[in-house]
Amino acid sequence: MEILDRLPTSDRLQRLRLGVDQQCLLCGDGIESRDHLFSKCAHSKQIWSSILQMCSIERDALVWNAELQWLCANLKGKSLLVFSLKLAWSTFVYHVWEERNRRKFCSVARSGDSLLHCIREDVKIRVQIKPIVILDVNRQLCVAWGIP
Ligand SMILES: [Zn+2]
Repeated sequence: MEILDRLPTSDRLQRLRLGVDQQCLLCGDGIESRDHLFSKCAHSKQIWSSILQMCSIERDALVWNAELQWLCANLKGKSLLVFSLKLAWSTFVYHVWEERNRRKFCSVARSGDSLLHCIREDVKIRVQIKPIVILDVNRQLCVAWGIP
C-alpha cells in the first residue's frame, strides 16, 4: 500500500474532499503524505537514520523514491545485512504508520526512541530465528540489533 501511495494519508483524503487536518501528526511540521511520513518527516527521518547507523551505513536518509531506489539497488543477496535491512525497512514503515494511527485515533504518542526500540525488537526476534554464519561483520550487526 505504501509503495503504491494508497495509504489514507491526510493529503490523499483532502484530494477526495474529505476535509481533514493535513498537518503531520508525528512532527507537527508539514503536510502528511506518504513521502513526508516515511522520508521527509524529522521524526521518521531520525529513526531511519538511526537504523542505517546500526547497519553501519554511512549516508543520510533520502526522500521516498530515492530511498526505494537505493534499497532495490543495494538489498540483493543473502547476507545478514541485507536480511536485517529488509526487515528493518518493512518494520520501520509498519511502525511509523502505526504511530501515526495511534496519534490520530487514540491520542497516544511514543517517542522516536520508543519506536526505534520496537523496530529493533521486531528485527531482533526475526533475525534470531535465522541460522547465520558468525562473521566479524555479522558480529557487529548482531550487537547493533541486540542479538547475543
Ligand atoms: Zn512529520
